[in-house]
Amino acid sequence: MRIVIKIGTSTLTHATGHLNIRQVEKICKAISDIKNAGHEIILVSSGAIGMGVGKLGLVDRPDDVSTKQAAAAVGQCELMYVYDKLFGEYNHIVAQLLITGDDIENSSRHEKFSNTLSRLLELRAIPIINENDTVSTEEIVIGDNDTLGAIVAKSVNADLLIVISDIDGLYTSDPRLDPDAELISEVTDLDESKFAAGGSGTKLGTGGMVTKFQAAKICSEFGCDMIIINGKKPENIYDAVDGKKVGTRFKVNKNV
Ligand code: GLU
Repeated sequence: MRIVIKIGTSTLTHATGHLNIRQVEKICKAISDIKNAGHEIILVSSGAIGMGVGKLGLVDRPDDVSTKQAAAAVGQCELMYVYDKLFGEYNHIVAQLLITGDDIENSSRHEKFSNTLSRLLELRAIPIINENDTVSTEEIVIGDNDTLGAIVAKSVNADLLIVISDIDGLYTSDPRLDPDAELISEVTDLDESKFAAGGSGTKLGTGGMVTKFQAAKICSEFGCDMIIINGKKPENIYDAVDGKKVGTRFKVNKNV
């Protein structure tokens, strides 16, 4: 399968902004193994701003654009250094691609991006993509990496998008507030209002579920399943690829 894996900042870093070494090592090992088993892997990784904040020793995540963009410039280096080191241990080659909304909107640049991705896969590298936060402006921002993950999946006609998050998946209500919240293992109807109408405080406004629904909708346009899994258990990645019951699967691809 051709698999796009999106990794969020909270999975990569501790609250301090410093690398969560144990977790990231396990995730890179599982991804390397899946690639060794014959799957094509593309990563969409957040963490540039978060890791930049940690490395620069800033007290909080900055609010102003120029500090955020400066932090991203520092953190993106750190991020690629870590991926290069960890994937290198398993003899995998990484490639960095930083894009903006413009690169998606402009059809000839989008085509170049897709072509480069395909060529990198032929060359057996692992493309690692992030938004180019240092030059993104409000007008052209993609904004969140769930959406970017889905855009990338569409660009390469992926079979599966795995969203690695800090939550097990979509719940019937917010599990941090409601002890009776239940994990929804499969979603086939991508109308999020159905979940919002589900009573007892929906999960949609929290934990980034709105952007995850949007991402699932983009994937559904070309018949690609999306799965949300928790990065705390990197073995979930194997289950997601093997089609086992894990996290929340937005099921649109009837063949998988
Ligand atoms: N591009 C941002 C970063 O690397 C992350 C955006 C997101 O996580 O949605 O910090």
